Amino acid sequence: MNSCSDIFKINKQGFIEGIRLVKSPNFDNRPMNAKVSLLVIHNISLPPGKYGGEFIEKFFTNSLDPSIDPFFDKIKNLKVSSHFVIDRLGNLVQYVSTDNSAWHAGDSVWNGRTNCNDFSIGIELEGSDNIQYTNPQYEKLNELIDCLTKKYPIKDIVGHSDIAPNRKTDPGVAFQWNKIKPLKDNITL
Ligand SMILES: [Zn+2]
Repeated sequence: MNSCSDIFKINKQGFIEGIRLVKSPNFDNRPMNAKVSLLVIHNISLPPGKYGGEFIEKFFTNSLDPSIDPFFDKIKNLKVSSHFVIDRLGNLVQYVSTDNSAWHAGDSVWNGRTNCNDFSIGIELEGSDNIQYTNPQYEKLNELIDCLTKKYPIKDIVGHSDIAPNRKTDPGVAFQWNKIKPLKDNITL
């Protein structure tokens, strides 16, 4: 059995083949014996509420020009990343190997375990809490989930707001959880 879906193949280095890869320097090795068991859904748009352009890519590679927008100046010292970003058109870009920890969760807890970056994969949808996500985004997200659940023993798919409820609201009320295929359907025994 291949370790991934028919649509996406993930290589031994933890990168999906055939999609755009922009390597972010913002990652850590996962702690020894940390199994990836959690997928975390986020949203991001830069500047907030604006879509398109290369600002997310710049942000995740620590090269965002702070003079372009007042918001960029506010976040100029943040070093963050996510494993994946799905833009409004459904294009998928990878930034960090799934075998490493990306810096997406921050101070977080799930099922009593802190520092969710250690054992999760972060997926950013280009979007905002209160604006509907696009169908191509849901389609790509489901394909990605299908791939990741075949490689890793994923137990839960949650929002950033579920693991950092006092700090975060994403992916927001606009995210339709019923458009995600139930996890049990993805697990291959
Ligand atoms: Zn988030």
